[in-house]
Amino acid sequence: MLPERQGSVFVVTGIPGVGKTTVLDAALEAAKASGFGEVVLMNYGTVMFEEAKSRGLVENRDQMRSLPTGIQREIQRSAAEKIASEAQDKIVIVDTHMLIRTPEGFLPGLPQWVVEALRPNIIVLVEAFPEEIAGRRSKDVARDRDVESVEDIRLHQELCRAAAMACAEVTGSTVKIIMNHDGKAEEAAAETVKLFKAMKR
Ligand code: ATP
Ligand code: MG
Repeated sequence: MLPERQGSVFVVTGIPGVGKTTVLDAALEAAKASGFGEVVLMNYGTVMFEEAKSRGLVENRDQMRSLPTGIQREIQRSAAEKIASEAQDKIVIVDTHMLIRTPEGFLPGLPQWVVEALRPNIIVLVEAFPEEIAGRRSKDVARDRDVESVEDIRLHQELCRAAAMACAEVTGSTVKIIMNHDGKAEEAAAETVKLFKAMKR
């Protein structure tokens, strides 16, 4: 059990292509410009990859999905512990997915053992209208994005809400929905900065 921490963990989730990274980059820039102080941004998938690589298990990110599930879970847990120890005395923002769509169904990105290690203060769901997300994905040629129908996107977002509340029940954290509508990323970023400030109090 870690000692009482001075820092905080701010978990930011949202389905792929909703604009988490876009909103967080703008929010961090705005926070920095207003003299907010140090905020560490950590991408959960990157922390997991670094851990797997340092154990000599993989050489690239795509090999992670082929690891035995038991090992994947172990890496998922140690990534959570690494992030939590970073948050002992800092504000850590974690860019992650609440659910991962797999051929076998939705896999929780924050199962109980992860959320208990992270102990987030706030869980953010970045959302947009399903039609907006479908449009962004189709325009985003820089990424190899899964194809989901508008109805599938709607269901994916609804299940993320349910999963977020389940996490909050375990940890007592709050859940905040931030809307990132088309052309409104700056507004979503401003709302995110307000949360950073509230968390510092
Ligand atoms: P992933 O989970 O795959 O990392 P993400 O949630 O981080 O995805 P981004 O990469 O930030 O999503 O954004 C996906 C695409 O949507 C990008 O092309 C981005 O420019 C665009 N986008 C993000 N927010 C908005 C917005 N408010 N209006 C219009 N386009 C947006
Ligand atoms: Mg991203």
